Amino acid sequence: MLHDDPHAHTLLPPEPELRVKALETLLVAKGLVDPATLDAIVEQMQNHVGPRAGARVVARAWTDPAFRARILADPMPDLIEMELTGAQGEHVVVVENTPEVHNVVVCTLCSCYPWPLLGVPPAWYKSDAYRARVVREPRAVLAEFGLGLPDTQAVRVWDSTAEMRYLILPMQPEASRGLDAGALEAWVTRNAMIGTGLPEAPA
Ligand code: FE
Repeated sequence: MLHDDPHAHTLLPPEPELRVKALETLLVAKGLVDPATLDAIVEQMQNHVGPRAGARVVARAWTDPAFRARILADPMPDLIEMELTGAQGEHVVVVENTPEVHNVVVCTLCSCYPWPLLGVPPAWYKSDAYRARVVREPRAVLAEFGLGLPDTQAVRVWDSTAEMRYLILPMQPEASRGLDAGALEAWVTRNAMIGTGLPEAPA
C-alpha cells in the first residue's frame, strides 16, 4: 500500500541513516567512541531532555487556567515565548484528554513528531506496526502499552503531518493535586504526551 502512496516522505531514501551507521561503525572501530556511551546519549535525548520541555508545558497548563485556555486555542504564541519552537515544531496543536475522550497521536505516513517539545521520536512511534495498528485497533494497541481505558471513554487518533504535530494534554492525576508546576513536571511522562500512557507518580 505504501508503495503506491505518492506522498514523498513515505519513501525517504535510506542514505542518511546508512551514512550515520557507517560513520558510527568507523568511529567505534577506531576506538574514538564507545557504543555504550552513544546509547546512553540517545537514551538521554529520547527519554529525558526532550520530553522535559513538553512536561513543562503540561505542568503549567495544570496549574495555570489562563495558560491552559490559551494553548488549547493556539499554543504557538506561548510556545514561542517559552522558546519551545523550532524545526519539527512550527505548528503544534494541543489536544486535551477528558473523562469522555482519550487522545493518541500517530504519523501514519512516517514519523512526524513535535521535536522541540518531546525530543526525538521513540523507535516504536516510527514502526510500521504502531502506525498501521493504532488507527485500526487503538484500544488493543493502548492495552499493549499497559493502558486500559474505560469503555465509557472514547479513543480519538490524531494523524500528524509535517504541517501539524500534536501534544496531548493529559488529565491531572488526583494524587498530584496541590503540587506546584515544578513538582508536577516529574509526573508527565513522554508517553502521556503521545497518548500511549498516563501521567504517573515519579519513582
Ligand atoms: Fe510523518
